[in-house]
Parts: sequence; C-alpha cells; structure tokens
Amino acid sequence: MRSLLAKATRQHTRNHNSRLVLRVIYEDEAISRADIARKTGLTRTTVSAVVNELIEQGLIEETGAGQSSGGRLPILLRVVHESHCVAALSFEDTQIVGALVDMRGGIQRRVSVPLQGYRPEDLPGYLTQLLDDLTADPAPHILGIGLSMPGIVDPVRGMVRRAVNFGLVDTPLRQLLQDQYRLPVYLDNAARLTALAEYMFGDGAASGNLVVISIGVGVGAGIVLNGALFSGDGFGAGEIGHVVVADNGIRCNCGNVGCLETVASVTAIVRAARRLATDPSSRLRSLASAAAAIDFNTFCRALEEGDDGVAGIVTEVGRYLGIAVAHIVGLLNVERIVLTGAIAALGPPLLEAVKTSLARHALAPLAAMTRVDLVPERHDAVLLGIAAMVLDHEFGLLRLDSQAHMQH
Ligand SMILES: [Zn+2]
Repeated sequence: MRSLLAKATRQHTRNHNSRLVLRVIYEDEAISRADIARKTGLTRTTVSAVVNELIEQGLIEETGAGQSSGGRLPILLRVVHESHCVAALSFEDTQIVGALVDMRGGIQRRVSVPLQGYRPEDLPGYLTQLLDDLTADPAPHILGIGLSMPGIVDPVRGMVRRAVNFGLVDTPLRQLLQDQYRLPVYLDNAARLTALAEYMFGDGAASGNLVVISIGVGVGAGIVLNGALFSGDGFGAGEIGHVVVADNGIRCNCGNVGCLETVASVTAIVRAARRLATDPSSRLRSLASAAAAIDFNTFCRALEEGDDGVAGIVTEVGRYLGIAVAHIVGLLNVERIVLTGAIAALGPPLLEAVKTSLARHALAPLAAMTRVDLVPERHDAVLLGIAAMVLDHEFGLLRLDSQAHMQH
C-alpha cells in the first residue's frame, strides 16, 4: 500500500513537473535547459529528465544554439506545435464545423456538415462522420475532442443541459464520445470559449482576469478569473444577454421583456434600422430597395456615409452596452473587457459610445482603470477557444501569466 502511494506520488510529481517545463518552453518559444531550471526552480537533473521525456513524446525538440554567456553555447528547446492537435467541433446555426487545431492555434484540417433538415436522431451520425474525417490518416497525435454547444452546458459533467436548436436535453455527450473514441472529451458554450480564445491567443490579460462580451444575433459573455474560466454554480455565468435593461421594451425569445439582447444585438440594430428607414431623409433608403431589404451590412455602410439617424442608433446601443460593462466593472473590477462579435464592425463610434456610457454608470476610478477594447470578430474564435480548453485540461497550458509559475 505504502509503495503504491509512493509510486502514485512520484507519478503525480512527474506529471506536475513535465507540465511546468512544457509550459515554460511553450511561453518562451526557444529556451535552454539552464533557463528552464532557473524559471521553474527545478533542479537541472530533474529538468534534463523531464526534457528527455518530452522529446521522446515528440512534444518538444532541440533547435540550434542560443546566446552564450561565456561558456559552451546552450542548446535551445521549442515546442513542436504540429505534433499534437485538438479535434474541435463547433455547433453553429446552420452547420457543424470540425477542425484539427494545433498547439499554437493553427488550423490543420477543416470539415463541416450542413444542418438543413436536421433531426436530433441524426446527431450521432454527423459526429461520427466529422470525427472520422478529422482523425483519418495521416493525422497528428490527437490530444482530445472539444465541443462548443449553444445553450446551457455543464462542462464538469460533460452534459448538454439544454440546446434547443439541436433538440438536446440532459445529453451526456462526453460519455457518448469518450466510449466511442477513447479520447478525453470536453465541452462548453460558444461565448465562454470565445473568451478563452482571446485570453490564450489574443492580447490576453496581464492580471489573468478578462471578460469578453460576444455580440452578434445574441449577446453572451465569457469570464476568465485568475487564469481560469468561471462557469458559475449553474453554468450560466456570462448570460448577460437576458438581463432586462429596457423597462418598456419588446418581448425576447426567452419570454421576458426588454432583455439586453433586444436592444443591443445585430438583430436589434437591424430592427431599429428598418424603423428608421421610414424617414425620407435617411440614407438607408438609398442603400436598400425596401425597408425589409436592410441588413446589418446596409447599416454599417450608412454609418460610414455619416447618416445621423444611424449614428444615433449606434450611440443608443453603446449606451446599453456601457451599462452592462459598468455592472461587470462594479462586480469584478477586471482590468480588461473585450467587446467582439459581428457588432465589432461598427468600430470607433460604438466603442466611444460604450466608453462614454461606462464613465457615466460606473465609479470613476474603476471606470478609468478598465481598458475596453473592440476586437474584430475572429473567424475561428470558437475553434481556437475549444483548442485552448483542451490544451488547458491536458497540458495546463492556459495560465500563461508568469505569476502562475510561482504558485507551487
Ligand atoms: Zn431574453
């Protein structure tokens, strides 16, 4: 019993050390064994042993010599990013997209299946088809399978609690795929995964805290606290789109009246634009054949052409988003909040409106220290977020801030 325990402890230490070493190499791009020992506090002997293991697994390789500080030129090590991939599946409105994403966020292979005429009983067949295509030879080592699902997702149990569009209620998706593919399986929702992607592959956040609000047809946020995704007790953290902000608003899909989504989303903007187009002086009239033909692109063009009514709608949307941002600042005091999604196409006029509203609705010193960025919608944000989720679980690569090294 005691020797079993000792063995388990050794195994754990080895795993812990190899994660630590891998993370340092991953962050530094090219680093010597001596510098790894210095950064991690591990002995040189331990570092050498761990490095040999990682080289054997194909995860890292030696890459030329570095700068000498007097003696022999040190050999540098780097991560072989293409050696391991995540099989990522993103459930979208009209299709399921699958991709192999490498350790640096590079898309190595891409497949998709359209959802016309989708029935819930089709799902297992679709998943098998996508995963078989992704993992067909020649494929790199697959680290795990990650999924993004709209709706309420329980990432701890790997369950889809409720995904209305896909007809899934309390579906144990992890169990189903794990049994079939013998690989680790992780899932979460798109807004949270978009936040992870920004944290890991975007500008991130120096403090390890970041909130990303995705605004498209719907509105949702992802919250990263101390370098980890925060899901909430009921896995609903970040569902700010359905907080009521307009007293006399219109009815939302969720059944309530005046949700943030009904006044500050692409859908809300198109609705407001079509109403504005009844004004004969609106530029929108010359850009579309009829009010019903006005879409988000028409709106963006009218904004670029300097239409006052359109600019007024942007200010109003920014005002509501600024109130939402003020609540986040008051609750969490995070140093960076990112707005992204299709709405980012509105550019500086929207960002200015959000900042003005934030200044009016939050405590001045807190508002002043918060950096609000508008980040253009990244085409593959959700796929990258899925990769970040699996890399975090399997290799502990998510906490990229230097302080995280010091915690053990
Ligand atoms: Zn709602």
